[in-house]
Amino acid sequence: MDALDGNAIAGLLVEVFGGELTTASSVCGSCGARSQVAELHVYLRAPGTVARCRACAAVQMVFVTIRGITCVDLRGLARLDMAQ
Ligand SMILES: [Zn+2]
Repeated sequence: MDALDGNAIAGLLVEVFGGELTTASSVCGSCGARSQVAELHVYLRAPGTVARCRACAAVQMVFVTIRGITCVDLRGLARLDMAQ
């Protein structure tokens, strides 16, 4: 499956967090790489939606929607700085 960039989940991020996050700065919990959310590698059918670190490919974010409820796993993130 080809990876998209973080812009592919812009609408999902607004839906979940209530704001534009593609320009937010994320820090990978695995390798410590810092990048904008827009630069992450996104897989839309992984299953669920998965955003991976572009440096080490570790999973940073997972979104799964079941019966209208979106569950979010951010354990792969060391930091998400929305003030960028
Ligand atoms: Zn990484």
